[in-house]
Amino acid sequence: MILTDTHTHLYSEAFDEDRESAIQRAIDLGVQRFFIPAIDSTYTHAMFDLKEKHPDKVFLMMGLHPTHVKENYQTELDHVVKMLNKHQFYAVGEIGIDLYWDKTFLPQQQAAFRFQIGLAKKLGLPIVIHCREAFDEIFEILEEEKGPDLHGIFHCFTGNLEQAQKAIGYNMKLGIGGVVTFKNGKIDTFLNQIPLEHIVLETDAPYLAPVPYRGKRNESAYLIKVLDKLSEVYDLPKHEIAQITTENSKNVFSI
Ligand SMILES: [Zn+2]
Repeated sequence: MILTDTHTHLYSEAFDEDRESAIQRAIDLGVQRFFIPAIDSTYTHAMFDLKEKHPDKVFLMMGLHPTHVKENYQTELDHVVKMLNKHQFYAVGEIGIDLYWDKTFLPQQQAAFRFQIGLAKKLGLPIVIHCREAFDEIFEILEEEKGPDLHGIFHCFTGNLEQAQKAIGYNMKLGIGGVVTFKNGKIDTFLNQIPLEHIVLETDAPYLAPVPYRGKRNESAYLIKVLDKLSEVYDLPKHEIAQITTENSKNVFSI
């Protein structure tokens, strides 16, 4: 069984004490492919370190996270462009709009999102979307940008059935993580109406740990808990869910 964690911040300070053992715990459970979303330029070095240690298991993305779009966002975007031109990345992400923490920079978040979608299209890369309390704003931009050259993952999908279908309509897979195990998470109530070919697995470690670890630090090994839950939701054996979702991840990232 090969599982793919399509969204894990393994370079985060939260893993400074035990990064290698956390990775090994995941590998021991079958999680063998780790896709690493970017946040901003301060983490680039740590991301390359991770890639260097695990060249066949770690796959990097490059992008500017919406909660890190501030006054200096143009400088940050210059960094994204420079990195994308110099190194190999498998997606532009994570990018999008987040209105939960702060609405001050909404226009800048929108501009950064549009600009980075443009970069992904130019390079033939998928995008990985971060959306928090911003479905309308995200869909407005996807509507403008839609087409055969736009595809990717709607990371940490937490919307309703209608929003799920809308996202899929823009060539997005749904990234399903710990939230599916939450009692009030709601997505488990309609997910079986979404064909499995549109689903990829993720942890978003160190955030959003699944039950029974909810509230604690998340790690890629806990992807197993997401797998267990999906096996229940779809009434399919775990190895089948693993196989299909890993295949889906290969289709998105072309590796
Ligand atoms: Zn993330």
